[in-house]
Amino acid sequence: MESLADKLLNPSILPCSCHSEAELLNGYISSQKRKHFYVHCGACRNQGVEHIESWLAILNWNKSKLSELPTVIDVPHLHLGGVSSQGISDLLEEDRLTQEGLIRDFREQQLPKNSPQFLLARAKLNWDIYALSILRAKLLLTDSSK
Ligand SMILES: [Zn+2]
Repeated sequence: MESLADKLLNPSILPCSCHSEAELLNGYISSQKRKHFYVHCGACRNQGVEHIESWLAILNWNKSKLSELPTVIDVPHLHLGGVSSQGISDLLEEDRLTQEGLIRDFREQQLPKNSPQFLLARAKLNWDIYALSILRAKLLLTDSSK
């Protein structure tokens, strides 16, 4: 079975806003010395922000306006099914504060950024931020359709 860490670090890529499949690419961008990951749509050439870590490149694509809005708001580390929008927002904000607190502690302890607990806290934080921006976009859509 896939572990929580596997799920957190392997987000699926949402389709592009033009409804085509987008893909994760890895390469050198401009003058950067290290290879970066970025999500790219071959149909309309939309391109997400590049990151050293693939999961971060995907989460940033998924939360951006370049990708399609997902039908459900789903994060691997919290149960959001059957919860109201306000409830989802509260759960995500609470977890965001928890992860930010952990990350502050890890930084003070000078724990390496890629040590398992630090990596998991960073991944959960970025999933929370992703889900909060999807929630906001959905609420905006609902408001403007009234
Ligand atoms: Zn596209």
